[in-house]
Amino acid sequence: RKFIYELQYNFVILHIETISVRMKDITPDNIKTFVRLIEEARRPIIVTHAKPDGDAIGSSAAMFHFLGLCGKQDRLLVLNDNCPRFLGFIRESIPQEALIIREESQQKAFDAIEQADLIICLDFNAFHRTDRLERPLEESAGRKILVDHHLNPARELFDLSFSETEVSSASELLYHILRNTTVINNDAARLGEKCAQSLMTGMTTDTNNFANSVFPSTLHMASDLLAAGTDRDFILNRLYNQYSENRLRLMGHMMKDLLKITGDGVAYIVLDSRTQKEYEINDGDTEGFVNLPLAIDKVRMSLLLKEDGDRVRVSIRSKKGTSANLCAREHFNGGGHENAAGGRLNIPEDISSIEEAADYIEKHTHIFINEENEA
Ligand code: 5GP
Ligand code: MN
Repeated sequence: RKFIYELQYNFVILHIETISVRMKDITPDNIKTFVRLIEEARRPIIVTHAKPDGDAIGSSAAMFHFLGLCGKQDRLLVLNDNCPRFLGFIRESIPQEALIIREESQQKAFDAIEQADLIICLDFNAFHRTDRLERPLEESAGRKILVDHHLNPARELFDLSFSETEVSSASELLYHILRNTTVINNDAARLGEKCAQSLMTGMTTDTNNFANSVFPSTLHMASDLLAAGTDRDFILNRLYNQYSENRLRLMGHMMKDLLKITGDGVAYIVLDSRTQKEYEINDGDTEGFVNLPLAIDKVRMSLLLKEDGDRVRVSIRSKKGTSANLCAREHFNGGGHENAAGGRLNIPEDISSIEEAADYIEKHTHIFINEENEA
């Protein structure tokens, strides 16, 4: 065991120079530390953001499988919320006993975080993005690694941070980290089918199937994974061709009847609980809808609001030149990326009921767009 450790420590990094786009945090020292922290961990766990999307689940599952390659059989994946149905094929690659879902077994999730000596955090930039896991994470004594692609990472909370915004996804960033370890040795085939499939899935959903946030390093990754035998047709079928009929009917209703466009070129849709119930909508069923209004010439920003108990979840997408991130930070208690961000409106702090959401959006996006023009 000692021998392997020294070998990895000394020869950990072989391929930095072959990366087509430099990533500032992927350095020989950081890769060495990454491998060392994993080697030294006895109870590693993986966490990602609440209401996990394809990149959250894909990067987490890939990390889980990589820990297996490193001989860490006692690893756990801790989710705040269960993953949406369309990602079931990734979740099924994780043994049931290794997956802990806070909304189903809260104490187990909190205990796992407390007992972990290494916590690998994927696809989020600050603990509050994990919702109810925030406190246990703050209080945990375990070492922490961040792998993320959002703006404004809370680096001070982590022993090691890989944070790059010029990548498609956390899954892509993780791929470039992993391929630089001696375990993978720049040979994607060594990731194994499940790990590679998870990475490809996360990258595909965060780029909307190569429609946005595609960098040279993204295609480099896709090329490596395809060459290693990853079945992209299978992934695309699972992601995009297995929705319910209701999802498409709801999309029609939203675009025809619910879509509003303001004089500032802001498109928005408010989806209240009643309508979600009427169409029997599950988490993940509205995935991608917020992007659709951007296809309209005059629309520069698009918002989708979903009522969710005592809060309203907000998704924002923008065209180049308008910052979804700033709008989310300044007006919707959130943040994210330059052109894809999210946040929330709290009831009753921000609006007293869902009926007020439209007025709130009209007023606040008007302020935001006109401030931006002045700047
Ligand atoms: P989505 O609209 O797909 O839920 O989120 C778009 C992007 O914004 C994602 O990268 C997500 O991580 C980020 N985001 C979503 N909700 C929040 C939030 O409440 N706070 C912050 N800081 N980022 C968010
Ligand atoms: Mn992501």
